[in-house]
Amino acid sequence: MPGYEPASIRFWRYVRKTESCWHWIGATGDTGYGRFNTGVSGGHRAVYSHRYAWERLRGPIPVGLVLDHLCGNRLCVNPDHLEPVTMYENTRRGNRHRPSIAVDQVDELRLF
Ligand SMILES: [Zn+2]
Repeated sequence: MPGYEPASIRFWRYVRKTESCWHWIGATGDTGYGRFNTGVSGGHRAVYSHRYAWERLRGPIPVGLVLDHLCGNRLCVNPDHLEPVTMYENTRRGNRHRPSIAVDQVDELRLF
């Protein structure tokens, strides 16, 4: 498609940065997390927006790790508010502020 805007640029049009959280204003999935379609030329490859932001700014997420939202805001894509942790750790923490964590993890596994 002529004039196609790269996903890496398009992504940030859906982010509204504040002094704390960076709010995702694009599409969201069933679990309440932001979703971003990285597909080129009409292709579709949806990823979680917070994971995409992390990989753009910090690099690849180690295999098997999930990103825990330290701020508890699922639509936040600020890498300073995210921490790669094991699923075990995420579940342990999830009991504190995310009762539906088991469902979220299933969806995350399916997506990647
Ligand atoms: Zn945040």
